[in-house]
Amino acid sequence: MSRRIQVIRGMNDLLPEAMAGWQRLEATVQTILNAYGYREIRTPLLEKTELFARSIGRATDIVGKEMYTFDDRSGDSITLRPEATAGIVRAGIEHGLLHNQVQRLWHRGPMFRYERPQKGRYRQFHQIDVEAFGMPGPDIDAELVLLTARLWRALGIGGLTLEINAIGTPDTRVTYRKELVRYLESHRGQLDEDSIQRLSKNPLRVLDSKVAEMQPIIAAAPSILDYLDDASRTHFEGLQAYLADAEIAYVINDKLVRGLDYYTHIVFEWTTDQLGAQGSVCGGGRYDGLVEELGGKPMPGTGFAIGMERLVDLLNQQDLVGPEPSPEVYVAILGAAAERQGMKLSERLRNQGLSVQCNCGGGNLKSQLRRADKSGARFALLFGEQEREDRVVSVKNLRTQGTEQQRIAYDEIGDYLKRNLL
Ligand code: ATP
Ligand code: MG
Repeated sequence: MSRRIQVIRGMNDLLPEAMAGWQRLEATVQTILNAYGYREIRTPLLEKTELFARSIGRATDIVGKEMYTFDDRSGDSITLRPEATAGIVRAGIEHGLLHNQVQRLWHRGPMFRYERPQKGRYRQFHQIDVEAFGMPGPDIDAELVLLTARLWRALGIGGLTLEINAIGTPDTRVTYRKELVRYLESHRGQLDEDSIQRLSKNPLRVLDSKVAEMQPIIAAAPSILDYLDDASRTHFEGLQAYLADAEIAYVINDKLVRGLDYYTHIVFEWTTDQLGAQGSVCGGGRYDGLVEELGGKPMPGTGFAIGMERLVDLLNQQDLVGPEPSPEVYVAILGAAAERQGMKLSERLRNQGLSVQCNCGGGNLKSQLRRADKSGARFALLFGEQEREDRVVSVKNLRTQGTEQQRIAYDEIGDYLKRNLL
């Protein structure tokens, strides 16, 4: 036997038994986003490396050390997308979606980051992204938060905390950055390696450090809220007023800066303490300069991303996932002569709206009934030579004990099943 090849580290096979939670999440998301008037967009997994360098920021962890970047066969540098916003903005500009109009868009799919794999942190993971363009005020930021709150309610998820912060604009951040650098320099001896790196390249990123020893230093750092310009302050207060109207509880975390450079005015994050160290399930914010940065006409934008693996974990942990879907009926076929008739019978029942698994690959009665049990079906139909001759089907209820079967006329079996499946 040849040596087995295994999956790449940090990438997950999502096996059939895990899919009920995923499908519940995806269906609920789709229903809610449709109801709010968001339209789906899908962009390629691969983009030019430059797109991410320019939007996410060269000094971020993502661009600095987490991207899957390589030269393609013609020597162009391309990257597996680490997040969705940049690609959506690129597509929006390219197809004229972001000029003189408002757009509400959403996207879902896999993202790639070369991180240290651990529970809730993978190298291929999935996000749902929601982005809104052309609306400069806090109303749309509030709508995004309300939408996420509705999603948690619809899914039944409890125990999430909403954190919000205002981070000004690139201009107002200049003064704050100076103060922050002054403060961090005075604590240089206590900074970890990574934070010292960030201090010189991109000091706000120090606030995003997950290192435990850094937390007291971060907590005592100057607050960005003391340096806000009037526009940002008004925007932030506007958001809070909408949240109060909607009775959505939040905490202001003045050290929340998020891991991407492009945010302006507002950032927010939904967190949980039920997933260990990986507590962030959804994060986003406003990015008013991004469209212009990527070559479009200036246009405000705001959005968020949900980490699907973490949300599915929460669904399972809080017992919010039902059983895997199963067929209602399993058709067991006995004997070669009945095979074609059995397949026809199955199709006929499907035409009548029943979900049917038809036995393929032969097998004796015992093994076919074992498969019927495993399929989760409520009824097994037994269709053999005798049944075919008599134009009947034998029906066995798989949810009751015993072996009794009923013979039902071939032409009436669909109606019989529908009556008994109610
Ligand atoms: P974290 O602080 O956990 O690294 P982040 O700030 O890098 O998250 P974003 O880039 O804003 O996260 O992505 C939005 C969401 O995507 C996160 O809140 C999280 O739920 C999820 N996410 C991010 N990175 C990963 C990953 N490597 N594996 C699984 N989920 C992830
Ligand atoms: Mg991260």
